[in-house]
Amino acid sequence: MANPLSEQQILELDKQHVWHPYSSFDMPLAPFPVVSADGVRLTLKDGRQLIDGMASWWSVLHGYNNPVLKAAAKEQIDNMAHVMFGGLTHEPAVKLCKTLVDITPEGLNKVFISDSGSVACEVAIKMAFQYWISQGKKQKNKLITVKNGYHGDTFATMAVSDPTTGMHHMFDEVLAKHIFVEAPQCLFHDDFNESHVKELKSTLEQKHKSIAAMILEPIVQGTGGMRFYSPLYLKRVKELCEEFNVLLICDEIATGFGRTGKMFACEYAGISPDILCVGKALTGGFMSLAATLCSDKVAKGICEGEAGVFMHGPTFMANPLACSVANASLDLLLNDNWQGKIENLQKQLLKGLLPAKELKQVSDVRVLGGIGVIELKEPVHMPTVQPMFVEEGIWVRPFGKLVYVLPPFVMSDEDVAQLTSAMIRVVERI
Ligand code: PLP
Repeated sequence: MANPLSEQQILELDKQHVWHPYSSFDMPLAPFPVVSADGVRLTLKDGRQLIDGMASWWSVLHGYNNPVLKAAAKEQIDNMAHVMFGGLTHEPAVKLCKTLVDITPEGLNKVFISDSGSVACEVAIKMAFQYWISQGKKQKNKLITVKNGYHGDTFATMAVSDPTTGMHHMFDEVLAKHIFVEAPQCLFHDDFNESHVKELKSTLEQKHKSIAAMILEPIVQGTGGMRFYSPLYLKRVKELCEEFNVLLICDEIATGFGRTGKMFACEYAGISPDILCVGKALTGGFMSLAATLCSDKVAKGICEGEAGVFMHGPTFMANPLACSVANASLDLLLNDNWQGKIENLQKQLLKGLLPAKELKQVSDVRVLGGIGVIELKEPVHMPTVQPMFVEEGIWVRPFGKLVYVLPPFVMSDEDVAQLTSAMIRVVERI
């Protein structure tokens, strides 16, 4: 690179001009400049290497700098990096949609490709509203959801994300008002009983005529607390949605593509939603891409209304470069023993993290598939704790009381052991 910046220059310019996720310009802790990433390791500008426990927020499945994904990207760049999708189509998009239809729960046959998880959820919400408008039921203009959920940072998605944990209560006056019921109380291994859906059922009974759809993250509530809940709860949600003529939107942006131990978390409950959102790991973490799938019933229902079309069409819809990389990533995943890898990752995470249960600072340790969580009794102080992880040679970014990891599927047993033992050493010092 011509005239590379020094570490100091990067940090200075960053401090002056650059927003980071959920950041302010007075952050007590500067970000760590990273120069490259390979396999499961990040290399910092100062030369330190860190084992990455975050998979860049659930997305990097096959490791960084993956040669297959790079080759797919290079080939597509030489051919056509981008072209508009209005009136044109191309092989990378068509192949991707066919694969998504094949691997997602049955009946989701129509795919809308977009550029990020939040937008995929916006599209899902718009599909639900437009469906009912087209059916002559404009009064079905509310959404119902569970507390502790998270669906993105755009306005429609903020309005269905947990008002407290998501800090979105600040935007109370500008967000659409939807209906929140208690978060699922029966955890993954708990017995389910009808009392767990009592509030949901009575709310649907009273308000179903004004409700377009229920939206929730299946099995794992991610950002809202890394809570794993019972598949039987989800199964009952699906039944209630059918009974009360409310569409079901499952947001698999975090859980999709094997992360929970199933290709899609809906499979734990054996259900197909009416609308499904995927993102994050769709390109194996190579670049941003997302998709919203819906049933034939929803697609037909939308298009038989006044507009005659689904009213959405982003500029970079179905970007060929991103679609090609997604195709390569899904080929890699599907032709590999992904289930075996996740089963092993679950075993290694359990082995490595369970000793944390004995620590007085810790209230719970839980693992599902490739997700490992240490829940503390008190929230962590990020500016103190983040450098402690870096000093230990690992990249872990906690939030609130949660110290969690979602390693790339390709992480070796030795690296998982190093990652988890370093996590425990840091937690011990908190
Ligand atoms: N839905 C879920 C379940 C998520 O976890 C996230 C991001 O963390 C989103 C939606 C938003 O995705 P993005 O950050 O790509 O907009």
